[in-house]
Amino acid sequence: MVQQPKSSLFDEIPITEGDAIFALMGEYQADPAEEKVNLTAGVYRDDAGKPWVLPTVRKAEKILSSDPRIDHEYPPIAGLPSFISSARDLLFSNPPESFINRCASIQTISGTGACHIGAKFLHSVLKPKTIWVSNPTWSNHHLILSLAAPDTTQKFYPYFDASSNLFDCDGMLKTLETEASAGDIILLHACAHNPTGLDPTQAQWRAIADLCERKHLFPFFDSAYQGFASGSPDTDAWAVRHFVSRGTMELCVAQSFSKNFGLYGQRVGAFHLLAATPDACDRAYGLLADLQRGEISMPPIYGARIVDLILRDPELVKSWQDDLTTMAERIKGMRKALYDELSRLGTPGNWEHIVQQSGMFSYTGLSVEQVGKLKEKHVYMLKSGRASISGLNARNVGIVARVIDEVVRETQAAGKENENGKVNGKANGHHSNGNGVHKTGLNPNKENVLDQPHVEPDAVENKRFAQVDA
Ligand code: PMP
Repeated sequence: MVQQPKSSLFDEIPITEGDAIFALMGEYQADPAEEKVNLTAGVYRDDAGKPWVLPTVRKAEKILSSDPRIDHEYPPIAGLPSFISSARDLLFSNPPESFINRCASIQTISGTGACHIGAKFLHSVLKPKTIWVSNPTWSNHHLILSLAAPDTTQKFYPYFDASSNLFDCDGMLKTLETEASAGDIILLHACAHNPTGLDPTQAQWRAIADLCERKHLFPFFDSAYQGFASGSPDTDAWAVRHFVSRGTMELCVAQSFSKNFGLYGQRVGAFHLLAATPDACDRAYGLLADLQRGEISMPPIYGARIVDLILRDPELVKSWQDDLTTMAERIKGMRKALYDELSRLGTPGNWEHIVQQSGMFSYTGLSVEQVGKLKEKHVYMLKSGRASISGLNARNVGIVARVIDEVVRETQAAGKENENGKVNGKANGHHSNGNGVHKTGLNPNKENVLDQPHVEPDAVENKRFAQVDA
């Protein structure tokens, strides 16, 4: 018999705290209740609660599968040239040659890969001291930045006002005005902010752009929901295009096609760096290509071909627009249905934010304790109170509203308010504190230890969740 070793070189790896989310998913799977609701995953579901392959994607796949010219050769290091220009045109609305000459674009492993290569590139070239991220942000941002920009400190700017469930624009501007320095990077969600579902208005975007310009902050947009949020790719690209239209800032954008084409597992994305001059653009492009070569050699082609085929065919674009409308309208409809039902039940608290928010998620305002009680009643969402609205459908929205109503009343009656002392709308204190330094165990920078102020337990939970949320 082979002897069983007693120790391993890997014994000292700290146990990750992220198992909480696996536990949550496991609990949902194992829950024998007939009427259980999963509002955890950030993926679109149809009204039957099933994954939805966009009909336009099906059409494109059919065309591709019967095209004898399609082979499986390596693409160029930067990706498929045709896809890259389609992706750029969609984001920046068919920009002129003078723009294209200054825009270094490469195909990436979806939005995550775009964030990663962008962070790595900026880290090695600009060597920023600080990257400012919204409090809260998509939790995988922390992990990506820790890995790709280990010497850059992650700091929070205020974003979510827990007392109103609204976007805290004043807090954001004030913190950045007083604490950000020239050369810092600012990570901005182009639309459908994850996890809050709250976006700046156009006037607020203008104020944010003014500030970036004046303080020489480098804007890094994460565009993961173009067209998915409002149903219109142009509306959802407004913020990015506004920054570009000022003509005063160099900036970059991480672009994902996971949600707007429903191509989650195909990993389709792009990274765009807009430089001030064509020469700087060429240099940046060279470095990006080197980074790409060393990390993945070249990106996968199948999903990119689907997106490119659709974006180059006016009939398919029309059909894709219909698919976007279907998804965006269903999500909006579910927000309204949940809100209407809570209103009908007279659930204590103000629930208007559910219809004011947009995109995949709602920050419900429910506390950690209330979320725990929802789970006991077979409704699963993240401890932060973030609910994936696409998990709602005509069959379960009434159940979810009734359960929320019961839990809010129970906690209110018991006087068991959460740590912020509010029953509804004033959830999780860890999001209400303005900015702070984010720390993670993966960052070798001495500031980064296994300690996560402000974002516990949500980020810990989300850190693992990010693996299913991708
Ligand atoms: N950024 C944000 C804000 C997201 O919510 C997501 C998806 N959850 C992504 C980027 C990237 O997703 P993907 O890698 O699937 O494109």
